[in-house]
Amino acid sequence: MKKLHLYLIAILIVASVAAQKKNSSIKAFKKEVRENVLAKSKMAQVIVDKVFSFSELGFQEIETSKYLTEILKNNGFEIEYGISGVPTAWWAKWGSGKPVIAIGNDIDCIPKASQKPGVAYHDPIVQGAPGHGEGHNSGTPLNIVAVLADKEIMARENIQGTLVIWPGVAEEQLGTKAYYTRDGYFDEVDLCIFMHVSNNLGVSYGPASGTGMISVEYTFSGESAHSAGAPWRTKSAADAVELTNIGWQYNREHLHPLGRSHAVITDGGDQPSVVPSKASIWYYFREITYPKIMQMYERANEVAAGAALMTQTTLSSKILGSAWPRHFNKIIAETMYENILQVELPEWSDDDQNLAKAVQKKVNAPSEIDGLAVALYPIGLPITEPKSGGSDDIGDISWKMPSVTLRYPSNIPGLQGHHWSNAMAMATPIAHKGVISGAQLEAMTLLDFLLKPKLVSQAWNYFDEE
Ligand SMILES: [Zn+2]
Repeated sequence: MKKLHLYLIAILIVASVAAQKKNSSIKAFKKEVRENVLAKSKMAQVIVDKVFSFSELGFQEIETSKYLTEILKNNGFEIEYGISGVPTAWWAKWGSGKPVIAIGNDIDCIPKASQKPGVAYHDPIVQGAPGHGEGHNSGTPLNIVAVLADKEIMARENIQGTLVIWPGVAEEQLGTKAYYTRDGYFDEVDLCIFMHVSNNLGVSYGPASGTGMISVEYTFSGESAHSAGAPWRTKSAADAVELTNIGWQYNREHLHPLGRSHAVITDGGDQPSVVPSKASIWYYFREITYPKIMQMYERANEVAAGAALMTQTTLSSKILGSAWPRHFNKIIAETMYENILQVELPEWSDDDQNLAKAVQKKVNAPSEIDGLAVALYPIGLPITEPKSGGSDDIGDISWKMPSVTLRYPSNIPGLQGHHWSNAMAMATPIAHKGVISGAQLEAMTLLDFLLKPKLVSQAWNYFDEE
């Protein structure tokens, strides 16, 4: 009996020495990976600026995807092009075995947001052209640098695991993540870490603020004729679009304040002399739960059908995008937040702060905001009161597997979003420093999940129970 006791004590000592050794090696690897990221600062800057220069709209990210996949291919990634039938989408994989961690970021830009970087007044590079007025040029460079920094250690130390980098194509149209999910790209993935540009380092868990949504285009077909010669012989599709809009405006008054709905007329006809035989209007319907999104969508379908009846036109509709409300994983968020406390915010220069303050003044930012972030936020807790706002189709992925969105400080606080002012910092040292902080943090968090398999199962327990 005594022998057995001694034997058990010996096992416990060996196990605790092994655990201590493991913890100290994780700590050493994290220190090393931060240095690896720092050594790639120039590379990060070049990729961020180059993607900024492409500024391609959703589904048109041709040069962006060509350039990014080329870098990944040259670094040993295996690439599947055109995933889910989307020409500019791809799935880049390196490593082997479990865990499989998918790392994503959006790559599209904003219409008419062209802007010279570092200039604190509206000065487009190309008048009327798209620009990175959302900052989506910075996240994939961040992911590439983080993964390459980890890869050096993984290869040397024979650390098992598969890292996948993938792009959110046409995020502004909520256009692709539901398709990737439906087509099974995430079936074998254990965790998803998603990046989004922001003005601080942050992560949250549980239900997030914001909405889910459905994006729908209604198209009406009628009969054209000479507008002056025989207007009585026409059925105007443009009238149907206008009547749909009028009907929906009356409904808007009765929406719950958590709902949001907006539209653009994508085809209003060609010339005044020809009564339009075709016309289209494109809506986003946003709400905080799936049933409420569908309720709004069904009501709008009735309004559009009513407009077709009034104008004797025919109606067709097409769903162009969708996003579920988001729900993030506590275990990944807490692990990441521990690393956030170690990485801290970048050191901003006077030039960085002066640019930020000038831009904030230019766009009348809220008066309590002054310059770039110098203090971290606490970890984001599950919202207790639903709060409306934007959507992101990362929501679809967050219901498929443990996921979080890491926000990193590559942009200026207090801007309105989807605007040329949001492009001003995105190819300057502000963006570059934010990317380096974010990449260090991501590389450290990846090491946590690669080296501590228990964390992966804890993340799944939270996912299954919540
Ligand atoms: Zn975005």
